Amino acid sequence: MINPITLDTLMENVIPVTETGCWLWLGETQKDYGRIRIGDEELCTDKLTWETQNGKIPDGLHLSHRCNIRCCINPNHLFLTKTH
Ligand SMILES: [Zn+2]
Repeated sequence: MINPITLDTLMENVIPVTETGCWLWLGETQKDYGRIRIGDEELCTDKLTWETQNGKIPDGLHLSHRCNIRCCINPNHLFLTKTH
């Protein structure tokens, strides 16, 4: 199994904000971005929610937040960009 983390698992550590639709990550963060440790690996939570909905991020592309809230992991608030 490549990715044992499901959206349900991630949602257990999230506060949904009704007004904005943001899903604020409550777990570990690094530079305000949500992180989760799986075994030896530390993964970005926004990337995980995006990939559960949209599949792998193509090489050379990065995720950016429409809402400008770095710890938000709502895939609907994320989009792919060529720069950080
Ligand atoms: Zn958001």
